Amino acid sequence: MTQVTPFAFDNTYVELPETFHADATPTPVADPKLIQFNTELAQELGIDLEQLEAADPALIFSGNELPEGSDPIAMAYSGHQFGNLNKYMGDGRAILLGEVVGNDQHHYGIQLKGPGRTPFSRRGDGRAAIGPVIREYLLSEAMHILGVPTTRALAAVSTGEHIVRQTQLRGAIITRTARSFVRVGMFQHFAIRGDYDGLKAMADYVIEHTYPELKTSDTPYLDLLNAVIERQAKLIAHWMQLGFIHGVMNTDNMSISGDTIDYGPCAFMDEYHPETVFSSIDSRGRYAYQNQPAAGHWDLCRLAESMAQLFSEDQDEAGKLAQEAINDFPKHYEKYWLTGMCQKLGLSEVIEGDLELVNDLLDVLDANEADFTLTFYHLSSALMDSTVNDQAIRDLFENSKPFEAWAERWRDRLATEYLTDEERQINMHKVNPLYIARNHLVEAVVRAAEDNADYAPFYEMLDVLKQPFTEQVGKDKYGLPPQKEEVVLRTFCG
Ligand code: AMP
Ligand code: MG
Ligand code: MG
Repeated sequence: MTQVTPFAFDNTYVELPETFHADATPTPVADPKLIQFNTELAQELGIDLEQLEAADPALIFSGNELPEGSDPIAMAYSGHQFGNLNKYMGDGRAILLGEVVGNDQHHYGIQLKGPGRTPFSRRGDGRAAIGPVIREYLLSEAMHILGVPTTRALAAVSTGEHIVRQTQLRGAIITRTARSFVRVGMFQHFAIRGDYDGLKAMADYVIEHTYPELKTSDTPYLDLLNAVIERQAKLIAHWMQLGFIHGVMNTDNMSISGDTIDYGPCAFMDEYHPETVFSSIDSRGRYAYQNQPAAGHWDLCRLAESMAQLFSEDQDEAGKLAQEAINDFPKHYEKYWLTGMCQKLGLSEVIEGDLELVNDLLDVLDANEADFTLTFYHLSSALMDSTVNDQAIRDLFENSKPFEAWAERWRDRLATEYLTDEERQINMHKVNPLYIARNHLVEAVVRAAEDNADYAPFYEMLDVLKQPFTEQVGKDKYGLPPQKEEVVLRTFCG
């Protein structure tokens, strides 16, 4: 039999020493069926669609058949989970099939999530349920389209098997891709074992593949830390600007490349309340919306500690350099956050007083149960005509008086810039979506898949989310916040 080769694999992670990974083979499933395939992403990754079709995508993306050139592994890592160090983690329910070189010449890992047990599974079954698979597919693609760096979804399959959680659930597997699956927890993995060579090999690998511009630096490791800090600051600022709550910002879920990774109980906030938490396991609100920058900073402190010994042989000196780097996080974060928030308000520059202007609006939202996404979306219409178009936005507030007072200050500030309202509106429409993956709608999509293997709602929502900034005829419900009885307060890990 001639083997088909849809993927031109060029596997690099598997070449790292054996402390970095373990061999892992997907466990075949009973009746794999393709639910969704991301043709556009496949093309970007140079995947041969004809060969894939010949090989049968359901067999490939269920792990029932390994494509030629795959060298499947589970990656080893450690990490702090809700503040507690776990030395023994690793891909317990994910298997990296290998890496391909995308059209942009970058390597992309192709990983199955839910393909059965690996050497890191411990008591887990290595499986995923249809609900979390659908959730990750929708949310990660939505984030990508919104311009947020993220892992992406290449395929989803149902397995024809049930898995046991609190109840029996339909099993599924998602194939996700990333420019890097390296996590902060991988650096911790080597540092806490006193494995200096492993730590250095990890850093060298990341520089080679993810930060090649640092290869010629005299201080590559310190520069790497600084670069990761800056990318994470930018990423978290972007989440905040969209009302996105990751939900499980443990160090094993923070990527070194600055991509959003590990979509579990994540969700978008409807009404703006900074203390919002969705995740059922985050009972203390450690990863609440407003805590995300601090949580990111905390995780990066763990990275800095782990990397410090690479900076200098002198421990004091190394510690001082690590501390200086980590002290820059708030500065980076505030810059990205404020610049982005000002763009959302139609401002092209940040000047003195803008921080207050932004914060005052957020306070008005918080006090008046206003929808975060729609407030910013409608602000762009409010630009033109203060009496007519403001109505849509006024209706978002329980009491609109404080908003109207704020809007006067906002208009005065806009008048200090040279753009026309038309130009401003175009700019604002690029950063203020109408459609986000609203949690009550995601839940409805998930329920249809869970209860009836009905994927029609999933396809429709995915389609709407592909154009988040443009009003779509007949799709009103996707732009609306939940009614009181529709609100979903809790989300669950897979
Ligand atoms: P997460 O909270 O999803 O980032 O997962 C934390 C750790 O638990 C990771 O090392 C996962 O691989 C592992 N894990 C989660 N669910 C399972 C499962 N069903 N089977 C095996 N390992 C799992
Ligand atoms: Mg994880
Ligand atoms: Mg409040």
